[in-house]
Amino acid sequence: MKKFSAAKIFTGKEILTNSVIITDDNGKILSLDSLKNHENSTIQFFDGAICPGFINAHCHLELSYMRNKISRGNGLVRFVKDLLSIRNEKMEVILQKIEEADIEMFNNGIVAVGDISNDDHSLLTKKKSKIYYHTFVEAYGFKPNEAGYYFEIAKQVFLKARSLNLPSSITAHAPYSVPKELMKLIYSWKENYPVIYSIHNQETEAETQFFLNGTGDFKVLIDDFFKLNSSEVFQPTGDRSINYLLKYLPKVKNALLVHNTFSTEEEINNISEEFKNLFWCTCPKANLYIENRLPDYKTWLQVTDKICIGTDSLASNNSLSILDEIRTIQTNFPEIKTETLVNWATINGARFLKIDEQFGSIEEGKTPGLNFITEINDDGRLKVSSTLKRII
Ligand SMILES: [Zn+2]
Repeated sequence: MKKFSAAKIFTGKEILTNSVIITDDNGKILSLDSLKNHENSTIQFFDGAICPGFINAHCHLELSYMRNKISRGNGLVRFVKDLLSIRNEKMEVILQKIEEADIEMFNNGIVAVGDISNDDHSLLTKKKSKIYYHTFVEAYGFKPNEAGYYFEIAKQVFLKARSLNLPSSITAHAPYSVPKELMKLIYSWKENYPVIYSIHNQETEAETQFFLNGTGDFKVLIDDFFKLNSSEVFQPTGDRSINYLLKYLPKVKNALLVHNTFSTEEEINNISEEFKNLFWCTCPKANLYIENRLPDYKTWLQVTDKICIGTDSLASNNSLSILDEIRTIQTNFPEIKTETLVNWATINGARFLKIDEQFGSIEEGKTPGLNFITEINDDGRLKVSSTLKRII
């Protein structure tokens, strides 16, 4: 049996003071109790705050070799072009960087990850990792008449992941890259385990423009970079991109919309009413890296309590650290409390991934992992110099 305490304990649901966490030797929470019921000499004290292990709701482990390779601030479409033109690294380097990224996340107190796979490169690392991974295999491709082929590619990766017993889903990459023929195949596929989805959404204003009238950066990307005729492969809906996606997404299943930088208050509000299990993921450092813009979290907070945090990949981030993401949000939105951000980064992600029986909060019976955050201000806010150490 072990006992831990700190000035503040963020449980993933609330903040406690004068409390002690009691675990067994494997990190399972036996109870939370008042400090006064225990001898000080039996407790390990931390000078700062304790929180549960973090859930990284969105990552692409397989892109880890792209750290510091793509220049910042050029917008999503240029980012996609840059990314596709450097996908030629030696396999041993790709695999090595995947391994290192997995260890980096573990050391940064991350216990579970929603991770994208477009190929099988990261599967073995995920299999042997100490971190829990849900693998989202993205299906995508612009040509409607090749939907079956695109789906088959995703299915092969999915079957390999499932043969390794990895929790996995086939999911749509993004509204702009998935024609309706492919949407139908993706959302009629019954083998996902557990049945959850993750889709890139409204990361750039260009996506809205493309759906409204078929013009803008995405037209240029498809015409000039992919050498297709965008007006042949894509029919603008005259509506916002998210409404196209929601026509196909199953209403009752857990789904994560990733980025949402350009989602409006009205959209988040109306959609959350209708889709009760929809979660909104933010990757603040990646948004700053690519589009140099953050979502308006103050609005988000007014219309949804289902916000998760992701790092996105090392192609658009210099670290895989949820603490860094939290600090970035708090630096730009000082009014949002650490307690709220920890809830986003723990219990919300665990609920989305359907692993909240084990992870996401410091509660009796769970084995959530425990992190220690140094140098918390008296009001609970992070400092620039706050760091994280993994306790369990
Ligand atoms: Zn992503």
